[in-house]
Amino acid sequence: MQTDQAFDVLVVGCGAAGLSAGVAALECGVRVCILERATIEERGGNTRHTGSYIRMKSEDQVTDDFEEHFAQNAGGYIDPSLVAEAGGAPEQWSAPLRALSFTDPNVIARLAELAPPTLKWLTGFGVRFIPLEVPFPTSAQPRIQPSGGGRALVEALAAAFEQKGGTILYETAAQSLITESGRVVGVQAIGRGNQPVTLRAGAVVLASGGFQGNAEMMNRYIGPRAIYLKMMSVGCHYNKGEGIRMALDIGAASCGDFGSWHASPFDPRSKRAGASIYIYPYGILVNKHGRRFVNEAPGHTDATYEGVTREIFAQPQGIAWTIIDAKANEVPNQSVAIRTEQPAIESPTIEGLADKLGIPPEILRATVDEYNRACQPGAFDPRKLDHLATRGVTPAKSHWSRPIDTGPFRAYPIVSSIVFTFGGLKTDSLARVINLQGDPIPGLYAAGETQGLYYGTYTGATSVLKGAVFGRVAGQDAAALTRVQAGAH
Ligand SMILES: Cc1cc2nc3c(=O)[nH]c(=O)nc-3n(C[C@H](O)[C@H](O)[C@H](O)COP(=O)(O)OP(=O)(O)OC[C@H]3O[C@@H](n4cnc5c(N)ncnc54)[C@H](O)[C@@H]3O)c2cc1C
Repeated sequence: MQTDQAFDVLVVGCGAAGLSAGVAALECGVRVCILERATIEERGGNTRHTGSYIRMKSEDQVTDDFEEHFAQNAGGYIDPSLVAEAGGAPEQWSAPLRALSFTDPNVIARLAELAPPTLKWLTGFGVRFIPLEVPFPTSAQPRIQPSGGGRALVEALAAAFEQKGGTILYETAAQSLITESGRVVGVQAIGRGNQPVTLRAGAVVLASGGFQGNAEMMNRYIGPRAIYLKMMSVGCHYNKGEGIRMALDIGAASCGDFGSWHASPFDPRSKRAGASIYIYPYGILVNKHGRRFVNEAPGHTDATYEGVTREIFAQPQGIAWTIIDAKANEVPNQSVAIRTEQPAIESPTIEGLADKLGIPPEILRATVDEYNRACQPGAFDPRKLDHLATRGVTPAKSHWSRPIDTGPFRAYPIVSSIVFTFGGLKTDSLARVINLQGDPIPGLYAAGETQGLYYGTYTGATSVLKGAVFGRVAGQDAAALTRVQAGAH
């Protein structure tokens, strides 16, 4: 199929970011087409499968730590002279700073500022936000959620997009960008049966997710151990990194840690999206050799699960088991703490459990005995940090330490899931893709996972929000750009 300038704005991807871009551009009165790799039934990538927690106190307020958490995870050891320069006006920034791979504070300030109006905009399509009473067994920060999760977002936005006259080409995957005189003027794509599709437009918004569904890129950027990562949802498989690659191919700068990902502790046996296991702070974690290797309870679950999961990933074959006893049933909200549909592996004795896990029984017995001896008397409170810490064992455990002594004993396997990749494209606060010289690439935008932003510890419950905020910004700016171009002709 060859279509010549049939659209003003092309959007690649039909998740929270792409649909927000598409609807926002349509609202500006331009013609919009979304290219989507999946079928209509599977549209929406990761967004379709997420509960879509949002790091906000209410629809009107982000959390108290919002910008601070991003700032604490802004990159590695950034050159102090560039950090100092970043405090000045963006128009005065040098080219190296404009193209720098780090979390731009202006982008984060924009995200925080536009979060409430973006949620209000979404409610205009019938999306309803609700507070989450217990998002995790214990939480440092509050969260809200769209009723019906990400799927409700996809369906509401897709309906609005279609009702406003937008076009979605399903089973059509973008492959490369078409440029003329330094401007992006279209997309080369591939339809069913390897049929080439050429689409031209005044601007392109890349919202095709990360590269978690591309084994070659995963190996190249994250390394050969990436095979031990488990996809958080089937939606991950659709995100194969072309959006990122095609922009890098025309000189885009990168942002976000290409060697890292958002990690969540996942039951590898599960067929379910989001089958995370958060019960481990109330027991212990052992590797396949039967040894503890991490402080299982360094703090609130929401603030620490990613760090613990990275330690699990570092173990042989990237796997660990949480060992709990019958007393773990006292932890309230079990369905929040144990999200897998798979049953626990169970035995009346520790040795019997070890047998079932393929761990040497005498080693697991010794590990449990050593941990039990290190537990101290005190009040156990699973709902808050109770400081019931171990003494005299390495690694130490900071909270909820009670002897594992009451059968039946249970275990769940845990691996690191990959929720999404951190590495993506550098943008400014208008979601314009920046080139390696620090200048916007005319006609090119990025939003959602495709827009790189995260380093270190993920600022939890901000990915959908970031997609919606910058998708909307990108759609509006892309539409304005194409209108200027139309006026100029
Ligand atoms: C189980 C689960 C729980 C999660 N929990 C949360 C949470 O609580 N809070 C939160 O903020 N985030 C959460 N996340 C992460 C979040 O869902 C995603 O990061 C976010 O939805 C990404 O939105 P997106 O629009 O960038 O990408 P996606 O929603 O993945 O959409 C990308 C779209 O692009 C399409 N596509 C890919 N390549 C191409 C191509 N070349 N051409 C055309 N189309 C293409 C895909 O098919 C897909 O439809 C969770 C994810 C999962 C799976």
